[in-house]
Amino acid sequence: MTWGKHVAAGALLLTLVACSNTRPVETPQTRAPSAPVRTAKPIRPTIAPVQAKPGASTNAKLMPVLDHGPRDRKQIALTFDADLTALMRRRLVSGKVKSYYNKALIDELHALHVPATMFLTGMWMEQYPDVTRQLANDPLFELGTHTYDHRGFTKHCYTLGTVPRDQMLADVRRAIVELDRVDPHATRWFRFPGGCYDTTALHELAPAGVTAVGLDVPGADGFAKSPQPIIKQVLDHVQNGSIVVLHMHGGDNAPYTTQAVGPIVRQLRARGYQLVTVTELVSH
Ligand SMILES: [Zn+2]
Repeated sequence: MTWGKHVAAGALLLTLVACSNTRPVETPQTRAPSAPVRTAKPIRPTIAPVQAKPGASTNAKLMPVLDHGPRDRKQIALTFDADLTALMRRRLVSGKVKSYYNKALIDELHALHVPATMFLTGMWMEQYPDVTRQLANDPLFELGTHTYDHRGFTKHCYTLGTVPRDQMLADVRRAIVELDRVDPHATRWFRFPGGCYDTTALHELAPAGVTAVGLDVPGADGFAKSPQPIIKQVLDHVQNGSIVVLHMHGGDNAPYTTQAVGPIVRQLRARGYQLVTVTELVSH
């Protein structure tokens, strides 16, 4: 699905800088293809809920939102969401779709030595527990959450449906608990399905203790018909500090992400960009 049009007015957009220990940045120069280096994963970035804007309800705290990193560094974070909705799961069960785990994409990221941040829905983690564990133990990746079943957090978030206000926190926590169970290095990063949120959602979710990671470059790989538009969309819009959203579930929902990643990565590196995780992007 496309991103970037449904971020509701009034949302608090902040560029946040987290202090954390991070792995050495992996680049072609620092990490030889034949000798992958396993390094310790970073500790969890922790960003406290922030005060609402002046005029908001008294004492209201809002979940912080990060849309991009520093604009003065040639670093970009590629992020990959693993969606799984009730509808997608029915397609899996019926055999209409073979898998919503895009292993070829993970293999391609390994071949290219691209650090990445993955946002997993709780339902996806339940469907692919072994893969979730593998990703959690993979030093190239860091994991955050993407709600339980990928419903929207505003009334009209594409066709995703809506999580009732009184269920928002429980929904988000359900995925956090699932991720924490298998990943001791799980980040406190979180992503809204479809990029849809408003001040109400940010207020309801402040107690979850996570930071919403938005984007400034939607990758346009959802339901793409070929790799070319994805490559063009990303390369035309990235800048220093960009957070790019792509998808890791493949299947019929994101069938060309793998083919697009190689050209994107090579072009970005040719332009002098360093590819980093979200944690690394904001760690300076
Ligand atoms: Zn998603």
